Amino acid sequence: MTPLEELRHSASHILATAVLRIYPDAKLDIGPPTDTGFYYDIDLEHKLTAEDLVRIEAEMKKVADENQPFLRKEVSREEAAEIIRARGQERYKLGRLADIPEDEKISFYQNGEFIDLCAGTHVRYTSKLKAFKLLSIAGAYHRGDEKNKQLQRIYGTAFPTRDELAKYIEQIEQAKHRDHRKLGRDLKLFVIDEDVGQGLILWTPNGSIIRQELQTFISEELRKQGYSQVFTPHIGKLELYKISGHFPYYKESQFTPVVENESLAKILGEGCSCAEMVARLDAVSPRLAAQINGRTGRETITPDRVKPEAELLEGFMLKPMNCPHHIKIYSSQPRSYRDLPVRLAEFGTVYRWEQSGELNGMTRVRGFTQDDAHLFCTEDQVAQELLGCLALVKTVLTTLGMSDYRVRVGLRDPDSKKYTGQTENWDKAEAACRQAAMTLGVPFAEEPGEAAFYGPKIDFVVKDVIGREWQLGTVQVDYNLPIRFDLTYSGADNQDHRPVMIHRAPFGSMERFCGVLIEHFGGDFPVWLSPEQARIVPVSEKTLEYSRELLARLKDAGVRASVDEHSDKLGAKIRRAEMEKVPYTLVLGAKEAEARSVSVRSRAKGDEGVVPFDQFLPRIQEEIRLRSLSEKKAPA
Ligand SMILES: [Zn+2]
Ligand SMILES: [Zn+2]
Repeated sequence: MTPLEELRHSASHILATAVLRIYPDAKLDIGPPTDTGFYYDIDLEHKLTAEDLVRIEAEMKKVADENQPFLRKEVSREEAAEIIRARGQERYKLGRLADIPEDEKISFYQNGEFIDLCAGTHVRYTSKLKAFKLLSIAGAYHRGDEKNKQLQRIYGTAFPTRDELAKYIEQIEQAKHRDHRKLGRDLKLFVIDEDVGQGLILWTPNGSIIRQELQTFISEELRKQGYSQVFTPHIGKLELYKISGHFPYYKESQFTPVVENESLAKILGEGCSCAEMVARLDAVSPRLAAQINGRTGRETITPDRVKPEAELLEGFMLKPMNCPHHIKIYSSQPRSYRDLPVRLAEFGTVYRWEQSGELNGMTRVRGFTQDDAHLFCTEDQVAQELLGCLALVKTVLTTLGMSDYRVRVGLRDPDSKKYTGQTENWDKAEAACRQAAMTLGVPFAEEPGEAAFYGPKIDFVVKDVIGREWQLGTVQVDYNLPIRFDLTYSGADNQDHRPVMIHRAPFGSMERFCGVLIEHFGGDFPVWLSPEQARIVPVSEKTLEYSRELLARLKDAGVRASVDEHSDKLGAKIRRAEMEKVPYTLVLGAKEAEARSVSVRSRAKGDEGVVPFDQFLPRIQEEIRLRSLSEKKAPA
């Protein structure tokens, strides 16, 4: 355990100590540290409330103040069971004891009157815990299995200092306000409807504007970099994914194949069982097996996976990746070294199966649109192409005010032999990844063993304004798919050569990226991304006509605007525009109508006073055109 984990884990012992003082009949399960704190799973008749947490936390303070040492005690398996029984904790702890392998030492740790089965390690005294807080209670199934009893999980966190704790608590508070699921609802950005399905995002008109603006922005940058836009269907034949190797190896993360009616009726008529149907979908024809094995130069498709053509069942997959489709566009015509690099970009929608427990708003979903592209280039062009990919990332993140990010470079595990491609090419590609990462001028970490078997990669992790880290997308070099699809280009020597592929979806998916952006901006999008950029508020009906006239002019100029024609009071209208996070509110009274001006209230600066409309219009247009970040709001 790291020192911080040790501190937090020790806090979970103190938590259990306090819980047993207040609820002597509580049955304990486990209390490990987490990335952000610790928890303890407890079986207790009484349903814990927020008030109970306050009481438990106060008791924890006492335990900490008692300055109890953590004492380790090694015992035999029999003694361990006795200790557990003597404490009345056999319900879960005996099972946990049984999990400990035969050859491992069994130890308990005692602080004050509390003793717990635990391998350690801990801080030396309970008084080391000076800054901790209980945060929440959640239900958690014993061993994460729905068939088991649901326990009460108490979450808390601990830090070495009170300052760090205060900072973290502030961050949690901020995060609650920024939660993209809440803001998504409040600002009508997206919905998830049970009838459509979990993890499937319905982009409502407001959210669609944000997505469209982002896509336009990214597309413009891609065009500058020489990418070609393509469109491909949402499904593809199973055989395509047998060639690529995506099926059946990644079956658990894919939707079941779609089989068309006639084939289905035919095999069901033959009395085919479900198990047999699956086997027929999974199998590969002798022709295809020979082809794949020939291309990869080894027994990639083992004989047990081969079935005669007549026994196969063909189906379609909801595409889990866009690569095979793009590869088919590349190979649809002969390519010369002069044509390379070929850069094919698509906002391509893919479908992956995620467990319902893993789904989360827009950030973990079952259908999503990647900002995908595939580059086909020569070995010598890899380095240059990687630079281009990273330059794009830098431009986009900087424009969005996310200049705090880092990259991880995934390299080979030097001791493993699982990698495809020649060693000297790997050396070059890894050096190119490293080199490209360095040009960003941001921190980067090299991670040996984190490369895919088919090539090294670069991942992006951004920090949002409140300091949370989000993993975005990736840039990945690939030596494998060009082999499996037998891709070639003719070189200057008139011979056929193998291109290298680069997969890149640096922002991951539009769903995830927008989810992160909602939280990053807390819903206060810069003007160019705001679904509504200006709201016109007439003071009374007398200025309604002037309001409509300005609306027409804003719309003509490409500004997204509306007139608040509700009959409620001015203050209420202004508040509504604020709640809906409209960047500019233009208040129009008789004076403004007379002078052809507007009274500007901006989200960033508040009341900006009266300006001629002919001055306001070019200003907002320029802000949109430059994709400016809104100025920071003064702290309230
Ligand atoms: Zn422990
Ligand atoms: Zn790909």
